[in-house]
Formats: sequence, structure tokens, C-alpha cells
Amino acid sequence: MDCLFCKIAAGEIPARKLYEDDQVVAFHDIAPQAPVHFLVIPKKHVRTLTDLTEDDKALVGHIAYTAQRLAMAQGCDEGFRVVMNCNEQGGQTVYHIHMHVLGQRQMHWPPG
Ligand code: AMP
Ligand code: ZN
Repeated sequence: MDCLFCKIAAGEIPARKLYEDDQVVAFHDIAPQAPVHFLVIPKKHVRTLTDLTEDDKALVGHIAYTAQRLAMAQGCDEGFRVVMNCNEQGGQTVYHIHMHVLGQRQMHWPPG
């Protein structure tokens, strides 16, 4: 399968990894939008959020839990933002689900 994030998870393409376990990998975004900007991905290939099944619910919980643990470890104790873009209108560009974690600057809402 020709998937960028599967290749990063497998170590076939280099990334600045922050964390890895049997289910997830976290690495710094290549084009950071904040002083802290990393991605948490499942090792399992899931194309987009609407492809999730009942069996994936615990995995998404693990992604969110990993995101907050790493955000705190990156000094985001005053707050941070998580984003998951879904499909074209949601702004998704890489079709392997990922949770963005952004921090160490003031975030605004709505994002535009
Ligand atoms: P999205 O637009 O939500 O699909 O986000 C994809 C993210 O992946 C963007 O923020 C990109 O900067 C990031 N990205 C693309 N290629 C790489 C890469 N090789 N290493 C790290 N981050 C990447
Ligand atoms: Zn993939």
C-alpha cells in the first residue's frame, strides 16, 4: 500500500518520532503551524475518520490519551488544540488518520 504514514510507522521514511508503542506512533509535523505541532497516528491503516469501525473505538481512545500525555510532556500545560481533518472539505491531505496536536501559542476559534 502506498501510504506515507504507513511508511513512517514502519520506519521506511524518516520522521522525528516522539513516541511509539505497539498501536501508535507520534512524530513532529514537517510543516509546523505552532511551536509544538506533532501528529499521533495508529500503526493500523485507517483511511479517514468515516472508515472507523466499532473495533477501532479503543484505538482512537489510545490516540487521544497519547496526544494529551505527549502534549503535557512538550510543555503544553496551559492548553493545546487537537484536530482531526476528515476528507476533502475537512482539509484532509494525508489519507491515514492522524490527530494533530498544536500548542505553545494562543489558539483562536473559529479557525476559518
Ligand atoms: P492533514 O491536512 O490533516 O491531512 O494533515 C497532514 C499533515 O501531515 C500536514 O500537517 C503535513 O504538514 C504533515 N506531513 C506531511 N508529510 C509529512 C512528513 N513526511 N512528516 C511529517 N509530517 C508530514
Ligand atoms: Zn496508512
